[in-house]
Amino acid sequence: MAKVAVIGAGIVGVSSAEWLRRDGHEVVLIDPKGPAGETSAGNAGLIAAPSVSPTQYPGVEWRALRDLALGGAFRLDWGRLPHLAPWLFAFWRNSGAVRVRELANAIHTIAGDAVEQHRILAAGTPAADFIGEGEWWHLHRSTLPKDNKGVAIKREFGFPVRVVAEAELRDRDPHLNPAYRSAFALGGYGRISDPAAYVQALAAHFQDGGGRLLLTAARDLRPMENGVKVTCEGETLDVDKVVLACGVWTETFARQLGVRSRVISERGYHVECWGANRSPPDGVAYQLTDTLHVGHALRGRFRVTSISEPAGLDSPPSSRAMAYVRRGPRLFYPDLEQDRVTEWMGRRPSTPDSLPLIGAAPNNPNVLFAAGHQHIGLTAGPKTGRLIADLVSSRPPNIDLTPYAPNRFT
Ligand SMILES: Cc1cc2nc3c(=O)[nH]c(=O)nc-3n(C[C@H](O)[C@H](O)[C@H](O)COP(=O)(O)OP(=O)(O)OC[C@H]3O[C@@H](n4cnc5c(N)ncnc54)[C@H](O)[C@@H]3O)c2cc1C
Repeated sequence: MAKVAVIGAGIVGVSSAEWLRRDGHEVVLIDPKGPAGETSAGNAGLIAAPSVSPTQYPGVEWRALRDLALGGAFRLDWGRLPHLAPWLFAFWRNSGAVRVRELANAIHTIAGDAVEQHRILAAGTPAADFIGEGEWWHLHRSTLPKDNKGVAIKREFGFPVRVVAEAELRDRDPHLNPAYRSAFALGGYGRISDPAAYVQALAAHFQDGGGRLLLTAARDLRPMENGVKVTCEGETLDVDKVVLACGVWTETFARQLGVRSRVISERGYHVECWGANRSPPDGVAYQLTDTLHVGHALRGRFRVTSISEPAGLDSPPSSRAMAYVRRGPRLFYPDLEQDRVTEWMGRRPSTPDSLPLIGAAPNNPNVLFAAGHQHIGLTAGPKTGRLIADLVSSRPPNIDLTPYAPNRFT
């Protein structure tokens, strides 16, 4: 059995650490902020198994330009444009119809069975209580568009989609903004009722089972003949394998290994209305198709997320983006009231082809990448963790990992 250090305790790192522990490895999970201290805490809480479409699509540039001109959900950290431009160009190059279909296949491979993967990982632990299932309703202000590619591709991959007419909308949610008059109800989604508490429950189970959590930052990786020296603040570890599961911070370590990860920070924001008098019906999350606000009832609060904002890693949050998200709750419910509102900004680890990096570093089989899950990290974290355990335990994975090769941008 191997000594393994997992760097990063978001959903991807915690899932990897737990699957490795179950395989009998001696695992230390390293994170200065503890489990779910960053992106894995603030997401929309959807296990988005049917969301097979990559974030790029034919014509994405026009939506982006429109949003930039009118102040929509796509934004840019303009000060970092020189740094971001090559990534944006590569992202756009992946937006042709044929390429998008290839990417959708690869996303489906790692995310399509995500609800089941979460249930298997959490079974028999307190984390299981956070998992539910339901529909994601994409709300429209007018009649539903006939030619909806996002809907068509979900159907093609076998996920149920039904039409919600105005009468059902009013019946299920009488307080919903009457401007929204119809919806596509997308089935096959899972829900996590509190993403941070869920990841923390999985991490607690990992520790109860003998895994070690080290609350410090890893600073340096030094490949040795038969392993890796990991220098952390306050401690140095000699391990057989290292798993890089540190989200947007992966690039720092990738560079040390001569790998170009191309993971950038694509920021998103949320507001939470605690003690709200309104929220979506049980088992339903909403998306406003015109403004791209997502609304989901989590434990004790109504969380609204939005914004895709490629940005520098350490740039301060944008007050304009935050203001855009703050408008969201009342777009859902014009008569919304709440006890208090909290706000958050987080960093999606995003690659130019919308696929994560999963697998060994090209020049070092003892360092494994598990990063770059962009908009679906909560969804695909558990399966990624299982694949990482397969690789460390020398079990051939039952999927082809080529599309996720960590050296594909190097
Ligand atoms: C607004 C928003 C909504 C979203 N909605 C959804 C959704 O509904 N469904 C979905 O599937 N996904 C969603 N996502 C995406 C999802 O949240 C991310 O893909 C996922 O959380 C990434 O997980 P991670 O473990 O890779 O990274 P993180 O959760 O960011 O974890 C990385 C960890 O690495 C640690 N770290 C960094 N540097 C070091 C170091 N030197 N040493 C040790 N540790 C280090 C950090 O402290 C951090 O805890 C959303 C994201 C946003 C922003």
